[in-house]
Amino acid sequence: MSKRPLSGRVVIATHNAGKLAEMRDLLAPYGLEIVSAGELGLPEPKEDGMMFAENAAIKAHAAAKASGLPAIADDSGLAVDALDGAPGLFTADWAGHPRDWMRAMGRVKAELDAREVEMVGTPARFVSALVVAWPDGETLLAEGRCFGHLTWPPRGEAGFGYDPVFVPEGERRTFSELSREEKHGIRDEGGKLTGLSHRAKAFIRLIEKAGLTKVSA
Ligand code: IMP
Repeated sequence: MSKRPLSGRVVIATHNAGKLAEMRDLLAPYGLEIVSAGELGLPEPKEDGMMFAENAAIKAHAAAKASGLPAIADDSGLAVDALDGAPGLFTADWAGHPRDWMRAMGRVKAELDAREVEMVGTPARFVSALVVAWPDGETLLAEGRCFGHLTWPPRGEAGFGYDPVFVPEGERRTFSELSREEKHGIRDEGGKLTGLSHRAKAFIRLIEKAGLTKVSA
């Protein structure tokens, strides 16, 4: 557990609406007062780290420093084995500006086509690095991975980003065809929490490390 349990008012350091919704959901049972970086009008820092954990730390530190509150950031991405782990750190960038997720998924298809790799069934994983930063610089890191495969064409309406082309292990539906609750997939197995998505798995680790306990409604 961290030296300092997480409690009270906490910033979610993201401007991504899909991620924010999932992070709010995942934190909901723990009695924190959540405010987003967008709601506080905090700027988005440059993410120039070489790893997901570094970029999450950059975002969490920037938000904690600017707000004077503990901040949680997620840096995440999709890694496709046949593309040597791409888009990886550049997962959001593949959507261009303004973000166009059909374009991003289309680029994955085009890059696989160029290597003569069939997109349907090709192994991929999502990765999430979550960092909590306190204004005095203390940090806590938790990571999660979700293995699965890609499909084409995109399917489903829910979720965000690359959800319509990703099928997690053990499922036939894409993340976009699952409800948000199913995508988190959080279950209590004999007192031990397990999750489906990369973000849910990272959150379970974070909950343990940050000493968060459920509050009754
Ligand atoms: P960043 O962490 O803000 O740099 O962006 C990571 C990008 O990865 C997001 O903008 C999404 O496109 C993608 N991504 C991360 N997690 C998920 C997910 O759960 N579903 C779909 N796409 C995701």
